[in-house]
Amino acid sequence: MCGIIGYVGPRDALGLLVEGLRRMEYRGYDSAGVSVVSRDGALRVAKKAGRLANLEQEIKVGNHHLVGTTGIGHTRWATHGGPTDRNAHPHLDATGTLAVIHNGIIENFAELRAELEHAGIELVSETDTEVVSHLLGRAYRGETGETAGDLEASMAAVARRLEGAFTLVAAHASEPDLLVAARRNSPLVIGVGDGEMFLASDVSAFIEFTREAVELGQDQLVVITPDGYRVSGFSGGEADARPFTVTWNLAAAEKGGHLTFMDKEIAEQPTALADTLRGHFDGTRVVLDEQRLGEDELRTIDKVFVVACGSAYHSGLVAKYAIEHWTRLPVEVELASEFRYRDPVLDRDTLVVAVSQSGETADTLEAVRHARRQRARVLAVCNTNGSQIPRESDAVLYTHAGPEIGVASTKAFLAQIAANLLVGLALAQARGTKFSDEVAREFEALERVPAAVAETLTRMDAVRALGQEIADSKAVLFLGRHVGYPVALEGALKLKELAYMHAEGFAAGELKHGPIALIEKGLPVVVVTPSPSAQPLLHSKILSNIREIQARGARTIVIGEEGDKTIAPFADFFVELPALPSLLQPLVATVPLQVLAAEIARTRGYDIDKPRNLAKSVTVE
Ligand code: GLU
Repeated sequence: MCGIIGYVGPRDALGLLVEGLRRMEYRGYDSAGVSVVSRDGALRVAKKAGRLANLEQEIKVGNHHLVGTTGIGHTRWATHGGPTDRNAHPHLDATGTLAVIHNGIIENFAELRAELEHAGIELVSETDTEVVSHLLGRAYRGETGETAGDLEASMAAVARRLEGAFTLVAAHASEPDLLVAARRNSPLVIGVGDGEMFLASDVSAFIEFTREAVELGQDQLVVITPDGYRVSGFSGGEADARPFTVTWNLAAAEKGGHLTFMDKEIAEQPTALADTLRGHFDGTRVVLDEQRLGEDELRTIDKVFVVACGSAYHSGLVAKYAIEHWTRLPVEVELASEFRYRDPVLDRDTLVVAVSQSGETADTLEAVRHARRQRARVLAVCNTNGSQIPRESDAVLYTHAGPEIGVASTKAFLAQIAANLLVGLALAQARGTKFSDEVAREFEALERVPAAVAETLTRMDAVRALGQEIADSKAVLFLGRHVGYPVALEGALKLKELAYMHAEGFAAGELKHGPIALIEKGLPVVVVTPSPSAQPLLHSKILSNIREIQARGARTIVIGEEGDKTIAPFADFFVELPALPSLLQPLVATVPLQVLAAEIARTRGYDIDKPRNLAKSVTVE
């Protein structure tokens, strides 16, 4: 995820590009860069790691001569290569006359990079993006086909070779009034002005200048000049893109039309999951992002700890069921703040999986350091490329959820579950407890989850209405069994964080050992139930629990599988989830709990993006 902007028209491009990037900075802030084409046929670049302010400073003090009316700008959210100046976009081709910006992940970049190196091209960054600049440069120079001097045809030829997710925008020194862009699996909109045209990841970048926009479809290419735009498919031929008029104001535009960043991030969960899975299965094996651990070292692992805090801790609890089932290794899930103070038994055959959205969480970082001092192996699951925890770990798997602005975690949490499950599959294949075809089947099941989450999101209106109805309750309890138990804990945490309400999650079987005393007339109790066909025994047990609380006057809110007729009579409110394999159900079951918590908080009048007393990344112990 990153912010992209492009401009052609009569105005001075630089100020407009920087302003557009400012509006999209929420999309990524690892680095920012711009490239401007001048009338005298020069292409100039300025780029800087860190926030946009660093780029602005660089432009002020540097001698960049960024004068021109055509330009591109990028704010990066790193996926390949740390957040450095060198890895910042735009990336140039070998002649320095062509610049490319990119949002997404080029899955086959390693193979393309090898091909370029073989052709004698020297790459200067660690990004997947740079291969595109060189491929495009070569195509434009006519070194790889019949596309010499034609930026549009060159882009089409290159796009056909790329796998993965990309929005690409290219500018060339010899084409002072033209930009070419292509998209697959990443967003791109055209802003249609009067004698000027824009390209951007979202409309917030150009809404100040025009409200007429065109949304590019999948596998489409666009050429813009000050007078208009032309859309085509990667293999040529005219293509249709969807024109629309932006009705949002600027603040809403930054949030993609959602009321809050959290609402937006809840809606982005299908993409966050798909991006996290993308490129991690090569047809036979699960692959991590950075692996400084040999397969033989993974094979000797005899115990796994997942250490994390808050929602990330719950993601570990969810994954424990799958990892133990798939690998037959004992898995302990520990709060990072407790882990290092209790003298856990660690040695070089222990794998510590450290889960942290920011990669900077102080408790988790200290747990990692403690584990490494005991010679345990550490695998980081983080959402922020190049952050401290990945840097200090033996292996890394990034969750590609994009920046999460809402303080209460939503999309990063689901992405953490998916990543933890990939860790489980990687261990299973290394240990031989799963054959490649079995790993492939599990991965295929995971690939079906984004669509199931998208389907779940379409069913949330009734949950929002319920949230408004129960917003003045004194407390809400959450129950679950098996993988539904950590989902219950996460549901309760969301409600505490956002709505400042007393909320608790329990293992449903524990109810009779104490918590049932809390049940009183009208108390909302959310129960996460398993599939009746996949887990009949657990299902019948939880059905009894629901009856027990209903008999004592609780208001039962049941989250279960669609078409579950047995449970419906005992549910005062039933949220039907698309069916998924048992171990993956938390990925859909969490969604209504996030929506419920957000709606209760909204009804109570609280700031959903910034709950009181909380901070997004907790860098103190
Ligand atoms: N994969 C590219 C990089 O790491 C683009 C990331 C983005 O979307 O910002 O530079």
